[in-house]
Formats: sequence, C-alpha cells, structure tokens
Amino acid sequence: MKPELNIQPIDTWMPDPQKPVIIAGPCSAENADQVMTTARGIARLGKVKIFRAGIWKPRTRPNSFEGVGEEGLKWLKDVKEETGMLLTTEVANAEHVELCLKYGIDILWVGARTTVNPFSVQNIADALKGVDVPVMVKNPINPDLQLWIGALERIHGAGITKLAAIHRGFSPFEKTPFRNVPKWELAIEMRRTLPNLPMICDPSHIAGSRELLSYVCQKAMDLDMTGLMIETHIQPRAALSDAEQQVTPEDLGKLLSSITVRKSSNESIEFRSKLDQLRAEIDKLDDDLLHVLSTRMKVAEKIGEYKRDNEVTILQLNRWEEIMNKRMEIGQALGLSPDFTKQMYQMIHKESIRKQEEIMNTAVKA
Ligand code: PEP
Ligand code: MN
Repeated sequence: MKPELNIQPIDTWMPDPQKPVIIAGPCSAENADQVMTTARGIARLGKVKIFRAGIWKPRTRPNSFEGVGEEGLKWLKDVKEETGMLLTTEVANAEHVELCLKYGIDILWVGARTTVNPFSVQNIADALKGVDVPVMVKNPINPDLQLWIGALERIHGAGITKLAAIHRGFSPFEKTPFRNVPKWELAIEMRRTLPNLPMICDPSHIAGSRELLSYVCQKAMDLDMTGLMIETHIQPRAALSDAEQQVTPEDLGKLLSSITVRKSSNESIEFRSKLDQLRAEIDKLDDDLLHVLSTRMKVAEKIGEYKRDNEVTILQLNRWEEIMNKRMEIGQALGLSPDFTKQMYQMIHKESIRKQEEIMNTAVKA
C-alpha cells in the first residue's frame, strides 16, 4: 500500500536551504565549553545551517556515557543565540519531546534504535500532537523499508508535515569496511515511494571512521540526497561517544569543500533537448539490443533441437571456451571492459543452456 503523506518542502523549515543542507555537531553534548567551541568552529565555516548534539544517548552496552540530559539543552540554546544555527537533537520518548519543545529545539530526530520500535515511535507521535516542529526519522538498524515508512506514518499521523528521512546505514553481523552498511538501494526505494520526502545522509554512522567519510558524502551527493549530517567535535579523539568517526570543524570545512555537488537537473531548453535526443538514441539501441538477443536465443534453441535429435550433450566445453575467448577479444577492441564482457556472456550462455534444457525436456515428455 502506497503511503499518502502530505510532506512540506524543506524551505518551510528554514530560509534558503541550499543543497546540500548541512547538519553538523558533536555526537554528544558533553559540557558547555565543548558544545560552544565546536559550534563556533562550525559556524565560522558559513556552510552549516543546523547544529546537532545528542543529549540522551542510546548506547549499545550499559555503563557507557549516556548523555548529559536536560542540562545540555541549555547549552544548545546558547549556541542558537550566539550563532543563529538551528538546533536538532534525538528524542526517544515523550519526555524528551516535551523538554526539547520547552528549550526551543527547532528540529527533532528519531534515532535508528527507536525507529525499530512502533510503541516508542507512537509514544513520540502522541507527544507531538498539535505541535508544528520538523521531525527527521532515521532508518531502523535493520534493513526494513516498511518499518521506516511506518515510523514516518506514525509521526505524520500526529499532524507533523515537516518530515525528512535520515539514511544512516544498517547494522551488519559480519565485519565490513562500514560501521553500518549503506544498502543505498533502500534509500533509493524510499525516495521512489515518497518522492517529496527530503533524504539526509548521515555519513558518520555509515562510515564509522574518518577515512571513509568523504567517499560516503560524495556517494550521497551523486544520489541527489538533500543534505548531510556529519558528526563534528572540537577534539574528536577525546569524544565520549563515537570518537573514531568525528572530525574537527576545520576538517569538516575541508571535507565539504572536497565534495562535488551536481545539480539534480538542468532545466535549460538546450540541455533538455540534447538530453532528450541522446535518450532517444539509447532507447533505439536498447530496442535493437533486445531484438538481437531474442534472435540469438532462437538460434540457440535451434541448436538445442539439433543436439537433442543427434543425442549430444548441451554443454560443449570447447565451443564455449572458443566463444568466450573470441568475444573477450572483440569486446576489448570495442572498448568494453573485460569484466563486463565476461559477465554479460556468462549470463547469455546461462540463458541459452536453460532454453536448450527446456528443449531436451520436451523431447523426454514426447
Ligand atoms: C547519533 O546520531 O549520534 C546516533 C545515536 O545515531 P543512530 O541513531 O543513527 O545510531
Ligand atoms: Mn553518534
């Protein structure tokens, strides 16, 4: 069932939200000084619209730093007063929502560990009834698109129409280069399901390390995401949570300058007509390609019949060797990568064998 959500564009949350909208700040608010010096460094870059800091921290294991609580909301208020950046923090229950509203937090987000639990999300939604505050919903830790959509629907059900999704990757069981595997296809599917929903990428929690951040940021931009949420700390290595993935405000500046942001589309008539012309060419070539493939399969079927009538096996290894070698040579000469030619021929060959098997089986039945 396609969700029917009335979603307001992100420019109703803030003036002039140029792409990418950058959200930055520490994983956790730790003390007044850490919050303010980080915020000053970030504000100086002139590129960050929204300041983030976790006040209540959902930690995987007990006895880790679990956030400073209400006191930290005062430090955030000071940041807004001094720098003018909007504020966002994570809420996990109704009490968090009430406190955030009391301290004037501009935007709330639902964390990945909360999105997985419909009871918690409903509890947050109930506390939001009658309030006009933007809410961003992180993906659940498991790759379940419906659960992610369900959380957005619950918040929307409370009357919230300023909504966004945050893609922060999915918990892996095995060791991977990412802390949370991106599974970009899920974020793309979410955008296809709810095209008006702004999609923010959280490269910090996907990467889990400073080294991978730039790759993830660029990928998010190439997928035309609306914004980036990047954990930034005045002394990343001394951070009380997520020390491996945070960057200094200075390095955030370098990171942001290094990514290439392309326009999602260019509406000039000249661009459109040239693009339409090239797309028409591709459509025609794809049509030809499918016809050629279909003809090739028909010939393979004929060969199948012939093999059957002469009682020889489907797979003729020498012939397959010869095809592969020759096609790889031609492919290379035509500028196709060896990997591509090889994979394509493996697929074509597999389908030819499947067709020939069908033919052999009809013979058995007959
Ligand atoms: C965070 O943003 O610091 C956080 C706890 O993220 P997530 O909910 O994505 O784990
Ligand atoms: Mn974090």
